[in-house]
Amino acid sequence: MDSNARLWQRLQASVARGVSVSLPYFAAHGEGAELRDVEGRRYIDFAGGIAVLNIGHRHPRVVAAVKAQLDSITHACFQVTPYEAYVRLAERLNEIVPGHGPKKTLLLSTGAEAVENAVKIARFATGRSAIISFGGAFHGRTLMALALTGKVNPYKTGFGSLPADVYHVPFPDAYHGGSTAATMAAIDELFHSSVEPSRVAAIIVEPVQGEGGFNVAPFDFLRALRALCDRHGIVFIDDEVQTGFGRTGTMFAIEQAAVAPDLVAMAKSLAGGFPLSAVTGRAELVDSVAPGGLGGTYAGSPVSCAAALAVLDVFRDEDVLGRARKLGTRVRERLEAMNADPRMEFIGDVRGLGAMLALELVKDRATHEPDPEHARATVLRAAERGLILLSCGIHGNVLRILVPLTAQLEMVDEGMSILEASLLEAR
Ligand code: PMP
Repeated sequence: MDSNARLWQRLQASVARGVSVSLPYFAAHGEGAELRDVEGRRYIDFAGGIAVLNIGHRHPRVVAAVKAQLDSITHACFQVTPYEAYVRLAERLNEIVPGHGPKKTLLLSTGAEAVENAVKIARFATGRSAIISFGGAFHGRTLMALALTGKVNPYKTGFGSLPADVYHVPFPDAYHGGSTAATMAAIDELFHSSVEPSRVAAIIVEPVQGEGGFNVAPFDFLRALRALCDRHGIVFIDDEVQTGFGRTGTMFAIEQAAVAPDLVAMAKSLAGGFPLSAVTGRAELVDSVAPGGLGGTYAGSPVSCAAALAVLDVFRDEDVLGRARKLGTRVRERLEAMNADPRMEFIGDVRGLGAMLALELVKDRATHEPDPEHARATVLRAAERGLILLSCGIHGNVLRILVPLTAQLEMVDEGMSILEASLLEAR
């Protein structure tokens, strides 16, 4: 049996340093909400491979669908000889993605690629080039997605000039002093100081910022953005890469604000652990791009499509949304109880939507001074105790919970108790 320590040495000697790794434990086996490392140690998985495993590791129906697909065809390239699984998935996404009228879908492989393609479609359809994004946003690591990302270090530092005509305004993040009114005023100011609205192709927004710290966009803000886009002919791009697929208690977070976006970017839990992403949106927008302008060799791999179709069946047959809401209520209760515990004055905020929940660690509840060291130490301590946890936030001081939505509540409780103990021990 390989030891974690020996593998860690090999990793350090062979893998690019720029790929930062959170924990020195090597994954060997995953099932449901549990993971085992190469030394056989058990962990409850509150990370889900960064929001990819909303229906857990190796859901039996996903495994069966992938095995069946492996026995028929693994790659053809949809642009050469198409296959039915891609078409069926497009049909199903067109049905479930919020929005009015006919929709169309394009499949890709990663979240960043979905974002890049949504931007390309918006630019082609409008004939405009400017894009507005938000502080604290995360849209990916490819160069345009990186330009849209609203966090400099470590994502942008040192990578030179990024695509032009991208503008950031503050996200309406209440805990850090933001508001819908302030953000809308900042956009208005931008229209006067930097770019006229008739040059703006799209506004891209996460309904709950993921990497940025689980900041929930107020629903009135999403509606105000929709109205602004309508007024100026701007495309509304909804990045549901992290919020998508049931995490917030609805299939897509934006449904809760009753806003119909023009284009939706999806990835992560879409295919239950296989690389797949999608852009779904208004048919006339998506179809504005001429043939050959969109695609990719591996985009919409048949294996990933088979997995995604199984994921959608699991959502339909196993009441995953209902379970997400129950799980969200339970986790929020636990977090609120921790917040009220006098030993835990280091908790500055508990927030989120549905089962997309987090707590922010501060040095001082009055000033909100971030405490990233405490967050980091808690992640390490939790792993020693058998819980995989992720931090996030522009200052790295937010602990987020992305446990599979299908996890047994007893296991979630066990994980929450480890989190609680780790927070106290890591102080
Ligand atoms: N958008 C959002 C909201 C994300 O959270 C992420 C990944 N964390 C991305 C885009 C990029 O996805 P990927 O890493 O698959 O390129």
